[in-house]
Amino acid sequence: MFAPFFFFLYNMNSRQKANTAFAASFAFFNIYAERTRNMKISELFQKKKAVYSFEIFPPKPTADYTTVQDTIRQLSDLHPDYISVTCSAGGSGNSRTPEIAQLVKECGIEPLAHLTCIHADKPSVLAALESLEQAHVSNILALRGDRIEGAQESKDFAHASDLIRFIRESGRDFDIAAACYPEGHPESDSLAADVRNLKKKVDAGARHLNSQLFFENEDFYRFEDMLAAADIDVPVQAGIMPLVKKSHVDRIISLSGAKIPARISRMIARFYDKPDSLMEAGIAYAIEQAIDLLSAGVRGVHMYVMNNPYVARRITESLSPILKEINGADNANR
Ligand code: FAD
Repeated sequence: MFAPFFFFLYNMNSRQKANTAFAASFAFFNIYAERTRNMKISELFQKKKAVYSFEIFPPKPTADYTTVQDTIRQLSDLHPDYISVTCSAGGSGNSRTPEIAQLVKECGIEPLAHLTCIHADKPSVLAALESLEQAHVSNILALRGDRIEGAQESKDFAHASDLIRFIRESGRDFDIAAACYPEGHPESDSLAADVRNLKKKVDAGARHLNSQLFFENEDFYRFEDMLAAADIDVPVQAGIMPLVKKSHVDRIISLSGAKIPARISRMIARFYDKPDSLMEAGIAYAIEQAIDLLSAGVRGVHMYVMNNPYVARRITESLSPILKEINGADNANR
């Protein structure tokens, strides 16, 4: 592939060679700069009708670094619009998030770093913002986080809206997103009360919302109607969790509070102890769920791929032509 280029170079005089080398390095620099420039995710929503992203979690401090590097590389090859990186809510708890977000960035994909505040104070949040800036992260998902038993609760932040306001007032140039719950947050008295609180997060400066996982699309459509009635007009991405492993099933049932429709219950009952079948059934359900959401015109889907490139690839292969159709070839990066 490079042979004609070298032949061409061989036949040039030294000034032509210098010009060509300069042009080539300039083009390479432009491509690199474009891939690594700080992009605000809210700008993506202005360019695209439907945004497609993955969520990953940082490995344990003792885990092999090359495994996570390899995972991120494989996910990046699928060209999601961005990859979000979770953080723990404990103490200063966000320690590996900037490092992993930086890895995502180095692979040419925009990272969205999660940041929690329930056990943090203002100086530790400022320090976290500093590390994110140093890692060239421009997008933050600002969260309260789940309480960790025995950990000191924050005197500075009671809700995610406090964290969003604090980041805004810090004068740092972050694009801020927040979490939302199509079935209501488990601590809320009602979905309506939760939506009223969600409005506080948007008024504080959240530019887009990522939803909690859900399995019944009708719940999401009803939620969108409630947001419109509450004058919440920022884009909302639907969170989809492919239920592909026994451990996911156990975790979702015990922790998320998501309603389990009969179709999912039947799938779990039938394939709980059959790993290959559960994998296939879980992937198929997630694809079908995403296709219905995209057909209904949602602003995007966010896949909780749980650091699993195989699952991400299977789902992306099915959704890519649909996303291309929705966004148009100019705005399709896959
Ligand atoms: P908040 O918005 O503060 O809401 C918490 C509760 O308080 C709700 O019931 C709400 O209705 C109420 N509330 C909110 N604002 C007010 C107000 N101003 N006045 C009165 N009541 C109010 N957890 C992690 O630890 N790490 C992660 O990386 C992480 N990533 C997540 C990503 C997504 C997309 C989602 C949906 C959740 C994630 N979580 C994560 C879980 C999240 O931290 C928990 O659900 C947590 O219990 C609530 O966080 P929040 O930011 O939604 O809180």
